[in-house]
Amino acid sequence: MSLVSAAPHGLMAEPHAGGRFGEFGGCFVPESLVAACAEVEQAFRDAWSDATFHHRLERLRAVHAGRPTALTPAVNLSAELGVTVLLKREDLAHTGSHKINNVLGQALLAHRMGRRRLLAETGAGQHGVAAATAAALFGLDATVFMGERDMERQELNVFRMKMLGAEVVPVRSGSRTLKDACNEAMRHWVTAVDDSYYCVGSVMGPHPYPWMVREFQRVIGEEARAQCAAELPTAVPTHVVACVGGGSNAAGTFAGFVDTNARLIGVEAAGGAAMSDGAVGIVHGYRTLVLQDEHGQVAEAHSMAAGLDYPGVGPELAHLGGIRRARYVTVADDEVVPALRRLARAEGILCALESAHAIAWVLRAAGTAELPTGSTVLVTLSGRGDKDMPALMTADAR
Ligand SMILES: *Cc1c(COP(=O)(O)O)cnc(C)c1O
Repeated sequence: MSLVSAAPHGLMAEPHAGGRFGEFGGCFVPESLVAACAEVEQAFRDAWSDATFHHRLERLRAVHAGRPTALTPAVNLSAELGVTVLLKREDLAHTGSHKINNVLGQALLAHRMGRRRLLAETGAGQHGVAAATAAALFGLDATVFMGERDMERQELNVFRMKMLGAEVVPVRSGSRTLKDACNEAMRHWVTAVDDSYYCVGSVMGPHPYPWMVREFQRVIGEEARAQCAAELPTAVPTHVVACVGGGSNAAGTFAGFVDTNARLIGVEAAGGAAMSDGAVGIVHGYRTLVLQDEHGQVAEAHSMAAGLDYPGVGPELAHLGGIRRARYVTVADDEVVPALRRLARAEGILCALESAHAIAWVLRAAGTAELPTGSTVLVTLSGRGDKDMPALMTADAR
């Protein structure tokens, strides 16, 4: 792996001064956090130019997270659709999704900075579980902020975090969901900057987080690029598809292909489509496209996939959309379960509801001008479906 990626300020390289991706990004935090963000940035720069840090991270990815994850040709689905579908299997990573890639990097950084505690926000609990996992591995304490409503809906993940030794703090403000948990985690960070490290769960938040988290997720795209080269006569697929919540699995995937001719397609949940329905605003410390009500207040997102239930979108993805290097599409709830079922029956892979959004777009677009017959499409399966089975059982029973 190269220590310095691409040209500075090239696409998906280093952001411009202050963490800007075009008009998006930046660091809009209370004065008390400006120094804390700067400290994280400096620590990340030092770590990212240190071969020892890279070696440690690579070893952890291999021996703890199970990387590299497979690239699986979806042979049956490909035959049915008339397009070649390749699946990047983040569902096979430890803890069941790509989130482990990010938390291993950030926990290693927190450890290097001498911090004793990880703070994290979580919606459905997937990032909370990953953060608790990494904290346990590094001997750090973990405090996870979670909306009270989400805690009721995601009991199993709350229990997982507790089993791993994390403290889960219920957030009772606002809609008692993810956006409120983000606010509360940042509020708490202000009071605990000296001994705590804020471990953000996606390519969001103030600079340097969107950049840093993309770099920790870049491994998805780099592995997939090499695996596609071995699998495809053309080496590079014609289309690269990933679901978008905050945008970390998409950003990590796109980073491996942004310098090719592949079309980059991000799939949002129709009820959480910041790229389609959002307006420019500042949320959780950065400027981006965000769902807002008529008063400009951050609106709540609604998706059956909890991981896509975020009203904003990572600033770099917003920028890639603005310059038309990436395109964003939406998938409604009612397309998701049929897509999940079709993939399961065609390939024997039960993916997460979030990932099923990406599959649903491929099913809808195959054979049309958007994804013509004969295309080669890489789809990142961001996670496995086990976490979603209880909800589907209830839905089926109804
Ligand atoms: C959290 C999550 C997502 C959404 O997060 P991104 O940052 O957009 O990748 C997607 N899929 C799964 C399985 C998740 O757990």
